[in-house]
Amino acid sequence: MNIIKKVNLSFAKSITGINEAIQHKRLMLCTTCAGKKVQKVENADKCPKCYGTGEHSDVVGEICVQCMGTGVLSISCKTCNGDGIQQNTMTLSVTVPKSVDTGMLLRIRDKGHQAFNGEFGDLILKVLVEPHPQFKRVDFDIHSVI
Ligand SMILES: [Zn+2]
Ligand SMILES: [Zn+2]
Repeated sequence: MNIIKKVNLSFAKSITGINEAIQHKRLMLCTTCAGKKVQKVENADKCPKCYGTGEHSDVVGEICVQCMGTGVLSISCKTCNGDGIQQNTMTLSVTVPKSVDTGMLLRIRDKGHQAFNGEFGDLILKVLVEPHPQFKRVDFDIHSVI
């Protein structure tokens, strides 16, 4: 899943570009359960629902939903409360090239949310340049308002 984040730039910075470290929050697979949502119990007993077979007690061919087919007793992952995902905060070095303008999109690959299949989305930075009272950009020229 992609994340779209707005980047506010002063007019001066939109001319020179920036290279800054930003705090970036995204969702990643839980490191404890690797997105499986359950954690194993030490010296686990057999799953009480399927008696260790890992098979669904009522539906033939389906796995036991209690133990996700493992046959052993497992509990909801405590790290992620059974969500399988966690919020992860990282410091990301972001480079915005010079001469950017409002509406420009900068894509940083693989810095979006992580999906359950392990793949990362992209982080998309949406540039927003604050208007300057004396200057305005017209294409690639800077026009001074006298
Ligand atoms: Zn977990
Ligand atoms: Zn089971």
